[in-house]
Amino acid sequence: MTSRHRSTATAAAADTHDYGARGQRAPISGGGAQHPAVAVSQLRKTYPGGVEAVRGIDFEVAAGEVFGLLGPNGAGKSTTIGMLTTTIVPTSGTARLVGYDVAREPLLARSASSVVFQDAVVDRGLSGRANLELHARMWGVPASRAVPRIAELSDVLGLSDLIERRVGSLSGGERRRLEIARALVSEPRVLFLDEPTVGLDPRIRHELLDVIAGVRGRGEMTILLTTHYLDEAQRLCDRVAIIHLGEIVALDTPAALLAGMGNVILELRVDGDGQLALDLLKARGVAGSLAFAIGSTLTLPLEQAAVGETLTAIDDAGLRAGAVSTRPPSLDDVYLRLTGAPLGAPS
Ligand code: ADP
Repeated sequence: MTSRHRSTATAAAADTHDYGARGQRAPISGGGAQHPAVAVSQLRKTYPGGVEAVRGIDFEVAAGEVFGLLGPNGAGKSTTIGMLTTTIVPTSGTARLVGYDVAREPLLARSASSVVFQDAVVDRGLSGRANLELHARMWGVPASRAVPRIAELSDVLGLSDLIERRVGSLSGGERRRLEIARALVSEPRVLFLDEPTVGLDPRIRHELLDVIAGVRGRGEMTILLTTHYLDEAQRLCDRVAIIHLGEIVALDTPAALLAGMGNVILELRVDGDGQLALDLLKARGVAGSLAFAIGSTLTLPLEQAAVGETLTAIDDAGLRAGAVSTRPPSLDDVYLRLTGAPLGAPS
């Protein structure tokens, strides 16, 4: 255990939850570079009242990897992040951060990680700098280290001109950047970003994505982010897990997930029930197993060369197709095929 681990673990005790017997300091088992940054095994959370939010998930994230947890509202993403950041006690299974068990060694697990929540935690009455200095002190970062660290982060996150301002006067996007700087002051080995761009307008969202991409390009830190914006995952993540109804239904690189979807998507609307039309097309061998229907819209993953003959076959099947378009496949298509649910919708 390094001195930083010791001091940050002590500081973290001030705002950790009471874990009762489970929170006792367990024999040190983690921290070495040989451990995956995140290792989750059969992790499960059933809330009082019986909601099975997370139903026995498994995944590992390597040091330096950017890993995305994707899914619609209610899929179990926040519950998973809550367990990994020790604010939610797992019902069963294990989760380790750089080897530290989040249930048995919560202080050590917390000392190795930082989280940017959906809701702001910076103090609106203080300046940006005062917030960062306060956080550095809470996490036991010596001033000699905190001062250059804050200067560096201000530069990387585009905060240099804003840092002396009261947080209450910053825009939503600026505040979100400050939140990320706050989380990075303690030099975490694992950074959790819970829906980092939710509620931001498209321009600010893209600025923030650029900032996160810049952060990921700098060294060994592991990033685990949740999102329901698939373009975000495609842009930032080395690998993504798609989570649906508390289970991981796919886990791979964005490219590998997309590779299964042909090289073009034929999308069209039919009159009436899309599923009935799709069943007909499948029975006639026109649509394959990757095709799916949402309402009256059919989505058919194809090879480019097959588009013309597929449209002819749809016509021959007696279906009246409208709003016909083609486009490249996206992670949305992968997601919809696996879950049948639009991403914004509750699962
Ligand atoms: P996501 O972050 O993917 O939107 P959540 O992890 O927030 O999903 O929620 C997963 C499921 O657990 C949902 O059905 C949600 O209603 C339920 N849930 C979340 N928090 C609680 C809680 N404190 N008590 C009971 N049920 C909860």
